[in-house]
Amino acid sequence: MRAWFFDMDGTLFDSMPHHALSWERTMAANGLVFSIEDCYRNEGRTGSDVISTAIRQQLHREATEEEKSRIYAEKAAMFRQMGGAEPIKGVKEVLQYLKDKGDEIWIVTGSGQQSLFDTLESHFPGIFARERMITAYDVTRGKPDPEPYLAAWRKSGFKKKDCRVVENAPLGIRAGKAAGLFTIGINTGPLPDADLQNEGADIVLPDMRTLLDRLQKNDN
Ligand code: MG
Repeated sequence: MRAWFFDMDGTLFDSMPHHALSWERTMAANGLVFSIEDCYRNEGRTGSDVISTAIRQQLHREATEEEKSRIYAEKAAMFRQMGGAEPIKGVKEVLQYLKDKGDEIWIVTGSGQQSLFDTLESHFPGIFARERMITAYDVTRGKPDPEPYLAAWRKSGFKKKDCRVVENAPLGIRAGKAAGLFTIGINTGPLPDADLQNEGADIVLPDMRTLLDRLQKNDN
């Protein structure tokens, strides 16, 4: 039996295009520059971290707690207005395969986007449970810090060798590797594979279909 730690955005949901657009627009409305590419390169960080860093680098001061929660709330509202995100192609089949095998399935995300958490059960019925989730609300340091993956590993009770991380983003892969876990990169976005490989991914695959093929081959 294994424990599988799935990232959420770009791994379970095809949500990154809307995240990138809502970040870019919300930051601009607050006098900050944060491009679509910045969004993909920073994917995995918590919203609070993204906002603090932008304010420190561009306005040369520390963000206030009020700013961090207000800007994040604006971004989350805009994301919600863009409509729900669909599951990444092929991920339902991967999750069902693992569940049928008896493996444990977790979510490890830097997101605090309640609108996505609310759709987990309708898109993936019976797969996830709150006690098997580590979110922005459960950690003090988000990815690329190993804390989210270490928290999932400790809570799961599994040995590290029996855990698998599934990630689409460079900083998420860095976090998985820093936690000492086998980390699979699925490149669902616009960045080159090299960006995922350079963070130390144990394997990088183009899509979920390829992951399912690999799993089925290895188990037979
Ligand atoms: Mg992701």
